[in-house]
Amino acid sequence: MVKKQFQAEAKRLLDLMINSIYTQKEIFLRELISNASDALDKLYYKALTDDSLVFDKNNYYIKVSFDQEKRILKIIDTGIGMTKKELEDNLGIIAQSGSLAFKQENELKDGHNLIGQFGVGFYAAFMVAEVVTVSSKALGSEEAYRWESKGADGYTIEPCVKGEVGTEVILKIKENTADENYDEYLEEHRLRAIIKKYSDFIRYPIKMKVTETRLKEGSDKEYEDYTGEQIINSMVPIWKKNKNELKAEDYANFYSEKRYGFDQPIRHMHINAEGVVSYRAILFIPEKMPYDFYTPEYEKGLELYANGVLIMNKCGELLPDYFSFVKGMVDSEDLSLNISREMLQHNRQLQVIAKNIKTKIKNELEDLLKNEREKYEEFYQAFGRQLKYGVYSDFGNNKEVLQDLLMFYSSTEKKMVTLAEYVARMPEEQKYIYYASGESVERIEKLPQTELVTDKGYEILYFTDDVDEFAISMLRTYQAKEFKSVSSGDLGLETEENKDSADTEEQGNKELFAQMKDLLSGKIKAVRASTRLKSHPVCLSNEGELTIEMEKILSAMPNNQKIKADKVLEININHDVFKSLQEAYVAKDKEKFKLYTELLYNQALLIEGLALEDPVEFTNNICKIMR
Ligand code: ADP
Repeated sequence: MVKKQFQAEAKRLLDLMINSIYTQKEIFLRELISNASDALDKLYYKALTDDSLVFDKNNYYIKVSFDQEKRILKIIDTGIGMTKKELEDNLGIIAQSGSLAFKQENELKDGHNLIGQFGVGFYAAFMVAEVVTVSSKALGSEEAYRWESKGADGYTIEPCVKGEVGTEVILKIKENTADENYDEYLEEHRLRAIIKKYSDFIRYPIKMKVTETRLKEGSDKEYEDYTGEQIINSMVPIWKKNKNELKAEDYANFYSEKRYGFDQPIRHMHINAEGVVSYRAILFIPEKMPYDFYTPEYEKGLELYANGVLIMNKCGELLPDYFSFVKGMVDSEDLSLNISREMLQHNRQLQVIAKNIKTKIKNELEDLLKNEREKYEEFYQAFGRQLKYGVYSDFGNNKEVLQDLLMFYSSTEKKMVTLAEYVARMPEEQKYIYYASGESVERIEKLPQTELVTDKGYEILYFTDDVDEFAISMLRTYQAKEFKSVSSGDLGLETEENKDSADTEEQGNKELFAQMKDLLSGKIKAVRASTRLKSHPVCLSNEGELTIEMEKILSAMPNNQKIKADKVLEININHDVFKSLQEAYVAKDKEKFKLYTELLYNQALLIEGLALEDPVEFTNNICKIMR
């Protein structure tokens, strides 16, 4: 039973991939060639660090060959190869089990995209092949094994004969169907074009037997057919090329060849730095958030090459957490090959590179914001949260780097604005940068607390992300302007007159407020006559550092410490409802007074989006007055 279930799952996954993830079937070749290149990288690295291995450059290559009659396409590499166990673990997962797939996912280099997550780049082969056979001999192994599969149904593994270390992937290409032409994957020109398109910068030669019509030697008229093996790709890695020679498309191809993501990057950066430390880098700002971006499985980092040799798939030291969405690679001649993970952390060269990269990314984002606003907003939609976390974390150490990249929704502009834009618009007499927190723009729009600030014509920034207030509490000021929540005790804009009259009213109602406070003891710190409410009868404000919004966020956390904000119940004493409360008080109708007090308090909680302590009692109370 269980086994069947796995198979159903595997089949779904394969179907999904074949029909939707990869829109172009041709990329199967890119996937297989990338795998071959990775395998060669691994061997190359081994050879450079292990003296017992002889290094012969000529033995590092990838070969593509085909046979139209037999409908066979082969991709051969002289890389590190796979043992029997590796064949099972790396290629067997789909037909085997979902849990293994998960285990696999965590070990693999590219855990961050839909294909990479399952380690199924290889399975793209099934888009064009009805049978896939992989013969492999691992480095240091005497035996070779053949893995074979028709897709989701399962696979077989058996010993085979293979002379050289390396891997041979054999595809039995599907027959043409009414709407798919598979023959093209057995045509020389087509294969050549695909290799050129996606794998031109692979650093090892990709050889293929080609037939060309050439001028006969010594003649300028006569032609002859020439057949021979040729290297198809240009081999110079893209990062070693001159920027001027490259098109946006080349970078986009590199992005997908490397499986950095399935989206189109919003921006690429091609860095060629020379100085204390020389390095080259190609960095990308993705367009879409990887599905696992906010999960613990997501691992930040850049590929790290030492003089053209890959030494690490995800070097986390190269990226600060707040730029963890950046993808790409760094190559430096100043790094030694056999550098270990531990050593890297203290490596000075690496620190210099990281610092340099950080600035480059920041500048790139600022440029995006300045020159391609829409694209920046798209980017911010996906990764703005990460930037805000950056402001908040590390004790606010990075706020200088990040503050100009922040955006919030504006009450007056009805769109995302930067802090600089907000401050530039502030009327001279406005002291603070005002913000209001809530679940969504729609909800904040209705908050009674915003009434006075809005009435003044001041702009309010809407904080809808849970991290927003925490980030701002770190920032404290922007261009010497302090941030102020519309729910804070003192908004800094009540006119003196207003304040005085509220004070006198409060004096007049001192006893009444005191009794209300008694009735709500433990829940609120004070009851006050509001200076900010116009049309609403009641709201909550808060005193002290911890805001009501923060309380909500903290109480939603798993290790909820039951931390409470100091809440003040503000009453609009010009509201009819308050008159009713007063009447009950004067008439010494204790029951009614208590009823009204509780109703008002609960209303304030509801408006604030806080949970009622006793919803049943609340509805009973409403029924009481309706009767
Ligand atoms: P990914 O390349 O994203 O890790 P794949 O499904 O393409 O996922 O490949 C799974 C794993 O199989 C690779 O990580 C690698 O360990 C192994 N593999 C695939 N092709 C080869 C190859 N030609 N030589 C050696 N190992 C290979």
